[in-house]
Amino acid sequence: MIIRSNTSGNAWPTIASHNDAILLGLQYQLEQSQWLTPEQIQQSQLKQARQLLTHALTTVPYYKDSLSLLSIDSIPDLDWTAWQRIPILVRKDVQENSQNLISKTIPQDHLPVGAGLTSGSTGRPISLLRTRVTSQMWDAFTLRSHLWYGRDLSKKRAAIRYFEGDIAAAPLGAMQQGWGTAADMFLPHGTVIALNVSTPIVEQAKWLLKENPEYLISYPSNLAALAEFCSKEQIQFSNLKEIATMGELLSIEQRNACREAFGLEIIDTYSAEEVGYIAMQCPSSQHYHVQSENVLLEVVDEAGKPCKTGEVGRVVLTTLHNFAKPLIRYAIGDYAEVGAPCQCGRGLTVLKKVVGRSRNMFIRPDGQKFWPSVPRFTDEMYAALPATRQTQYVQKALDWIEVRAVVEQSYSSELEAKITTFFQKQFEYPYRMTFTYHHSLVNVNNGKFEEFLSELS
Ligand SMILES: [Zn+2]
Repeated sequence: MIIRSNTSGNAWPTIASHNDAILLGLQYQLEQSQWLTPEQIQQSQLKQARQLLTHALTTVPYYKDSLSLLSIDSIPDLDWTAWQRIPILVRKDVQENSQNLISKTIPQDHLPVGAGLTSGSTGRPISLLRTRVTSQMWDAFTLRSHLWYGRDLSKKRAAIRYFEGDIAAAPLGAMQQGWGTAADMFLPHGTVIALNVSTPIVEQAKWLLKENPEYLISYPSNLAALAEFCSKEQIQFSNLKEIATMGELLSIEQRNACREAFGLEIIDTYSAEEVGYIAMQCPSSQHYHVQSENVLLEVVDEAGKPCKTGEVGRVVLTTLHNFAKPLIRYAIGDYAEVGAPCQCGRGLTVLKKVVGRSRNMFIRPDGQKFWPSVPRFTDEMYAALPATRQTQYVQKALDWIEVRAVVEQSYSSELEAKITTFFQKQFEYPYRMTFTYHHSLVNVNNGKFEEFLSELS
């Protein structure tokens, strides 16, 4: 691969642009840091975490209150024991203190800041802020993933994923030159093509046959349905050499289905919009390496104590570089099993498996399977939604969906009616929708939580 030049009359070796040079500088460090020992990585994380804590304590109203027992003077000496005493932040805290979690003084060199909302997930979305630094980190870890899996950036990559409304709709989808900001410095450019995941499986297969990409990324549930369809119809995509997944819990069955249908092993990534890259599959095995330079990840038991190898516990994350809306010891709602050190030699923390959110495909009354998602409600509806700890959508019959919510206070009948209308539009069918309210939905033993559950599949 050649790096594009930013200087006139310069063809070899090339002088990269300022932004490309930043990304290459980060990559140079990531290439080395992955081989540090776990102890060295932990010490480096703590060094960065102290910077974040100092910033949070002095400029973020929420932490001024919640961390009032920590004095600024004590932070330079803060060790792991002290770190683990910092209270855990849950989703509800983040929803209810959205404004108070924003720094009053974001450092100039972290600007500009962009706002967003977590999407496609159940319940009230979390508003998030990205900075110049978090975007650079996002790109750096995207580039690390391309390097880990030896991708050829000059080829075609297909993404079948969530888009709002009619964006990237079948039969054409969408196309862009280059693989995005993380890869655009490398020449020659490949292309990225995208298709809305709401597209019926049969149409997805047609689109892939026509486009014939080398790389494919989608959600595990959607890929498994595609694999099942392609096996049955004996469809093969002749150029395909890698299948990657993201966004949901990936099961052994789904891995097997893809291997049988396409003869390829899945590469899985664990990420979240409000945090960025969390963990990526090891290039030489099926477990995950935490992206420890981006997030400080802890796996803790119900009492908040760190889990040992082989134990499953709550995933608690700290965004090490977000100085606009720092999330410190944030329990994202997923569970993971702590793994033993990896044979590959990387010192990055190992997760044997991530037990996160999973999703069943839903079935339309005409028998077509589809990937269900939550519509974007209006601001008024979000304001009217009581704080929801969890929401689950259950397909009870071909024409009936039950909404199960873990709330302190039930929705009003007016709100239920509005939600019904939004879902009927999103799912393009006048489903009957019923609402039930609960104290808890999670099976804590294995932590598996199905946001979209089908009693038909
Ligand atoms: Zn490894």
